[in-house]
Amino acid sequence: MNLRFQSYEAASKKKPLNITVPAERPSEYFGRYVFNQEKMFRYLPKDTYRALRRAIEQAAPLSREVADSVAQGMKRWALDMGVTHCTHWFQPLTEGTAEKHDALIEHDGKGGLIEEFTGKMLVQQEPDASSFPSGGIRSTFEARGYTAWDPASPVFIIGDTLMIPTVFIAYTGEALDYKAPLKKALAALDKAATKVAQLFDKEVTHVTCNLGWEQEYFLVDEDLCAARPDLMLTGRTLMGHSAAKNQQMDDHYFGAIPERVQAFMQDLEINALQLGIPVKTRHNEVAPNQFELAPIYEECNLAVDHNMLLMSLMRRIAHKHGFQCLLHEKPFAGVNGSGKHENWSLQTDRGTLLHAPGRTAEEQLRFAVFIVETLKGVLRHNGLLKASIMSATNEHRLGANEAPPAIISSFLGKQLEELLDHISENDTKDVLRMKGKQGLQLDIPQIPELLIDNTDRNRTSPFAFVGNRFEFRAVGSSANCASALIALNTAVAEALDEFHTRVEKAGGDTAAILHVLKEDIQATRPIRFGGNGYGEEWQQEARARGLDCETSTPLVIDRYLDETSVRMFEHMGVMNLHELRARNDIKWETYYKKVQIESRVLGDLSLNHILPVAMRYQAELARGMESLRNLFGTDSEKLCARNMNLVIQVGQHADAIAEGVEQMTEARKRANHIEGERERAIAYHDEVLPYLEKIRRHIDKLELIVEDEAWPLPKYRELLFIR
Ligand code: ADP
Ligand code: MG
Repeated sequence: MNLRFQSYEAASKKKPLNITVPAERPSEYFGRYVFNQEKMFRYLPKDTYRALRRAIEQAAPLSREVADSVAQGMKRWALDMGVTHCTHWFQPLTEGTAEKHDALIEHDGKGGLIEEFTGKMLVQQEPDASSFPSGGIRSTFEARGYTAWDPASPVFIIGDTLMIPTVFIAYTGEALDYKAPLKKALAALDKAATKVAQLFDKEVTHVTCNLGWEQEYFLVDEDLCAARPDLMLTGRTLMGHSAAKNQQMDDHYFGAIPERVQAFMQDLEINALQLGIPVKTRHNEVAPNQFELAPIYEECNLAVDHNMLLMSLMRRIAHKHGFQCLLHEKPFAGVNGSGKHENWSLQTDRGTLLHAPGRTAEEQLRFAVFIVETLKGVLRHNGLLKASIMSATNEHRLGANEAPPAIISSFLGKQLEELLDHISENDTKDVLRMKGKQGLQLDIPQIPELLIDNTDRNRTSPFAFVGNRFEFRAVGSSANCASALIALNTAVAEALDEFHTRVEKAGGDTAAILHVLKEDIQATRPIRFGGNGYGEEWQQEARARGLDCETSTPLVIDRYLDETSVRMFEHMGVMNLHELRARNDIKWETYYKKVQIESRVLGDLSLNHILPVAMRYQAELARGMESLRNLFGTDSEKLCARNMNLVIQVGQHADAIAEGVEQMTEARKRANHIEGERERAIAYHDEVLPYLEKIRRHIDKLELIVEDEAWPLPKYRELLFIR
């Protein structure tokens, strides 16, 4: 029996795992393994507690003494919880997280050991950083990188280890991770948005950014996966003919969750809740074996960490249930891919900012300002925003007829469109109608329907307004959320900052706000689009509107180095040119390495798995014809016709595969000789990638022809349906 049948048999026999459900309610075990506010209060001296809260809430600096005191309290908690190790937990530019565990032990000076955890261990570590991507920021002779504690993201426990969320920076201070620039972008946004919010309410002191991500993923039985080297090594199938039935019946979306999957979800949720991730929603997605999980939204920096943590939890817990969790954006051709919608909103310390306009005219005006300035940032940096979500893996999903197109635009919904049109088309004095002492009254009916009118959705829009937030839908399922949020938050910070300057110049009063707002409503028209994003016409129109329509990832990445991008990042204090260049080198390198690996895997599979099977099948057909000829002599021609036809077809596809692999290998060799990360990435995109499609087409045809018994790799119909 070949590996395919063995694995299929093993997969079919699996039963849902019985999981241990805690006796308590979720509200009771939520955050059990987190050093959260409650534990801070319990384990820290009062002054330390207060200083730490200040550091978290107002980004106030923490002294060494306070850090030492925090560490002492944390140590007590950790030891109570049976912890033996600690690690800094960071997000290098590899799309995953990194950790290096140290035992909490020291010599006691008497030949024994004591448990030790100091402020220094909490605050700073120096991992040997030379093997992380740095894009040339750290030359190897000064391979130093530092991790530094981020008090805004609470410490948690996994197994026996205390995990400390940190930023990761080079010896020279440049960011080597996602968290450091994200925190800077959030600070820039806070500063600019607070200034603008204060135009309406002097009491506002802070603006925070909220993020609610929706994580899509596939589950595949682990045994079947093990028989698919492409899935194991690249996270996606490089071949496989569509199953006769896939998603055409729309019967998976929101369907009943298979029992084995539900057991996995339950286990995952319990673990996530214990780690303080407020997971809330779970459901089947559109494609077979595709699912989604979403938490209640949280402050952006924390939500990003939670998403990283959740992705690693998903992989681990899936394994326990005999599944492989696929976070790749496009694991299977012909069915939907996976995204990670990022629900983004702003909030002051006195209330929400993007909520459908409030009761008073000030609230309505303020609402319009924040919407329009968000659009301003998105319009000006639409190419950069696309660059922030583009990757070798997301490239397969974007622009296909299921995900947002590879053009950034924004859908606002009818009511909001009307509100903005009204403000921009009417004279200031018509828009503003003074109403006694109550303040201003916008001459437009209130639009609370906005919230109810959530059905007014446009699935094709990459950046849609949905009542109280924007939903950035172009983000890929495997991405670090921060990549998109660094770009988005900085772009909006810049727009708000400029808005504030212009309003001040124009007098700083309500008339000035309206004047500038009206200009910006006009200016942001090109980014507003509510039509069908999949249509051919949109491509043309978008180009005419000046929106970025590039689809090649290596070229889209260029947008980070546009003058407008560099100026924005530098001016907002988020990243400098040196960092941007280094990070781009990493992006290009990651890109071509991924295509390179896929190309090698496809080459190996073609030569070692597919072609031998095709040749054997062909020989068998030929032997059959020979027997017929021996039996029937010249009368056999008609009887052999079908076999003959098959022998020829198999031969043609096999030839095309062999030739394709040879040419692809040559193309790879040529690309490998090209100097420069960018140029090499372009060569991989233009010269190597097309062969993956071309070769696959012939393999998929062979799959249809060759006898089922002989086919070596689990087919889509086996991979995609969990019982
Ligand atoms: P959808 O209908 O878009 O699939 P889901 O319920 O799956 O909605 O996910 C919506 C996500 O948006 C959740 O994570 C939710 O917490 C988040 N969300 C809701 N309101 C806000 C807000 N004001 N700001 C940010 N995120 C929000
Ligand atoms: Mg959802």
